Amino acid sequence: MIDRLPDRLDLLATADAGRVLRGRMKLSAMPRLLPALTSSDGDLQVSLELGKDPDGTRYLRGTIQGDVQLQCQRCLEPMTLSLDLGFCLGIVRELEAIHALHERYDPVLVSAEPTSLADIVTDEVLLALPLVPAHADNGKCHAFVQDYKPPQPEQRDGPFAALAELKQKP
Ligand SMILES: [Zn+2]
Repeated sequence: MIDRLPDRLDLLATADAGRVLRGRMKLSAMPRLLPALTSSDGDLQVSLELGKDPDGTRYLRGTIQGDVQLQCQRCLEPMTLSLDLGFCLGIVRELEAIHALHERYDPVLVSAEPTSLADIVTDEVLLALPLVPAHADNGKCHAFVQDYKPPQPEQRDGPFAALAELKQKP
């Protein structure tokens, strides 16, 4: 096992050789991810296994663990999302080969250039982020609960009260 993640990797050659790599990846090294986060501090624990299955498909199986900070869309305060993701990619060199992949694999298309591992991790994390992040525990939405005051009766009149007032005028 290799306790270090290279920036880029020749996925096909590494899968042919069969390797397990593990390391930490800084959030700040994933620029496409940052707009979705409220903080670029911290890192993710990433572990990758590359190999060849009995059908000859080269695969990249991985796990991603760690915390990211998002903005709760209910109270607009930061919230922590703990990621614990698993993924399984089939490595293909040509678009046509994607159709031949077994359904247990999501495709990752490689070019002649070594593949950026940060790109792969970014894609997996983006897929896992909730569309509308919100505290799972309503009790943590303090701003929402404490700042919300029910409208006072005199402010509650609305458009009908205005109409009534108009009607009263001669
Ligand atoms: Zn909240």
